[in-house]
Amino acid sequence: MLTGIHVAFVGGDARQLEVIKKCIQLDATVTLFGFDNLESSFTGATKKPLTCEALKDVNALILPIVGTDDRGFVESIFCSKPIQLEEEHFASLRKGCVVYTGIAKPYLKSMLTNQRVPFVELLERDDVAIYNSIPTVEGALMMAIQNTDITIHGSECMVLGLGRVGMSMARALHALGARVRVGARSPEHIARIHEMGLTAFHLQDLKQNVSNVDMIFNTIPHLVITAEIIAQMPQSTLIIDLASKPGGTDFRYAERRGMKALLAPGLPGIVAPKTAGQIIANTLSRLLAAQNNNQGESK
Ligand code: NAP
Repeated sequence: MLTGIHVAFVGGDARQLEVIKKCIQLDATVTLFGFDNLESSFTGATKKPLTCEALKDVNALILPIVGTDDRGFVESIFCSKPIQLEEEHFASLRKGCVVYTGIAKPYLKSMLTNQRVPFVELLERDDVAIYNSIPTVEGALMMAIQNTDITIHGSECMVLGLGRVGMSMARALHALGARVRVGARSPEHIARIHEMGLTAFHLQDLKQNVSNVDMIFNTIPHLVITAEIIAQMPQSTLIIDLASKPGGTDFRYAERRGMKALLAPGLPGIVAPKTAGQIIANTLSRLLAAQNNNQGESK
């Protein structure tokens, strides 16, 4: 339970509603900043304008998945006015308050570090990344189906990278009956791909492996699908790039060759906002309970 802990939310999208629901259910005191246009009213949550005064007794400040932009603006689909978090806001947080965000870009990171506010980047956590790989893969499969005229079953599929997303992607394609090749660079990953019953190749040999591929799913956040690699692919190859922006594909060259190459960021929030919200809500409620226990013990 989160009884006695004051949790404040600043902006967000549909995913944040699941987190708010969970905090209310666990008996936290909940304050909402930047939810002016939210129609469904949460009993047990108070909407307030964002002021330093209102932040003073907050134990946990929850930001949206993307945190803030590089000037401190926070996205909120529930508010028409801009919301900006400035240094004075972080300075007004009490000692022991923890900021939770999906990711912290440089502006947010420097504010938090300057003000010595502890923070957690939820998307950096292994458990969240593994759970999130489920809606990501479902979104990638949806895009593959929408953008090809062949079945995934029986197709030549390639996955680049065997991290949290790559492993789930490779497994799902295999289960659907695709012939799956996975490119990785570490001997451990090559061994794991082999153990999974898939065809492994070293990324250095990517060029030699693309001549008959129907779909490529990239999860490596570095330029790996270069013009030189694209030049070896059939023109009909579909590239779905799941890596964070700007992806790992030379999109300019792919377009020049008349190929379909799609950068697909933020799939969990697009294809399954409720599930994506529940993933965050479950992890966050555990972290808040642990924070509450630790602070209770150190009093
Ligand atoms: P991860 O677990 O860190 O996996 C990344 C993979 O890329 C690992 O196999 C890693 O290999 C490989 N890699 C990294 N840098 C490399 C390089 N320079 N050369 C070769 N291989 C390299 O990350 P993840 O959680 O799977 O996420 C993968 C990407 O998808 C990230 O950019 C993430 O932000 C993004 N993502 C997108 C969505 C979406 O909706 N599209 C959803 C979730 C995540 P090593 O282990 O050998 O370094």
